[in-house]
Amino acid sequence: MTNAISQLKTILQNADNIVFFGGAGVSTESGIPDYRSADGLYNTKYAYPPETMLSYSFFVRHTSEFYRFYRDKMLYPDAQPNKAHLALAGLEKRGKLKAVITQNIDALHSKAGSVNVLELHGSAYRNYCMDCKKQYPFETVIQSDDVPLCSCGGVIRPDVVMYEEGLDERVMEQAAQAIRDAEVLIVGGTSLSVYPAAGLIRYYRGGKLILINKSETPYDDYADLIIRENIGETLGAAVFTLPCNE
Ligand code: ZN
Repeated sequence: MTNAISQLKTILQNADNIVFFGGAGVSTESGIPDYRSADGLYNTKYAYPPETMLSYSFFVRHTSEFYRFYRDKMLYPDAQPNKAHLALAGLEKRGKLKAVITQNIDALHSKAGSVNVLELHGSAYRNYCMDCKKQYPFETVIQSDDVPLCSCGGVIRPDVVMYEEGLDERVMEQAAQAIRDAEVLIVGGTSLSVYPAAGLIRYYRGGKLILINKSETPYDDYADLIIRENIGETLGAAVFTLPCNE
């Protein structure tokens, strides 16, 4: 166990109000790539950058093309929770972790057993008709060849926050409150560059900010512990070795 991980373990052992804030990097270890990662992949296959294709105006004007990209690059029905998701669910079960705040739409925290999950960007597992608001499961979107339609004829949309759309205020308030009350704040798998979600970190008042991210973030100077390792390995090594009754 590295020095940084044993420091993390000591902090977790002594804390009882931990909040986790995570981004795309939490899910890459489950085989879900960050669609923003600049690998040139989209340039060859799609006529627009992902930020355009995932915008509300694009969805309205080019619904079919939106769904082609969305099903191809945003949905991973076979993805399973990794050690990071499982470790966080374990910390919640022990009563130590109070909330998981995520920018991901893949529901892997819930699949891992986390209960208090605040999904800032919504969930691909919730979908609804834009006309009559009828709810539809993930499978409806996955299995449809083109634009998924409601029995009323309306277009079904995912309950995810598209570019140009605001975040859900109620979820944002709950996230801000959880961060404000947190004793320990762990931020992982995000470069903290996507606003307004990244601005949530400013609500933190505690003295134990832990950053687990492979690259630098604008908050590195404020961190009490920075770990530049794989997040699943890091959280797994720290949490799965905690004594049972802690
Ligand atoms: Zn409908």
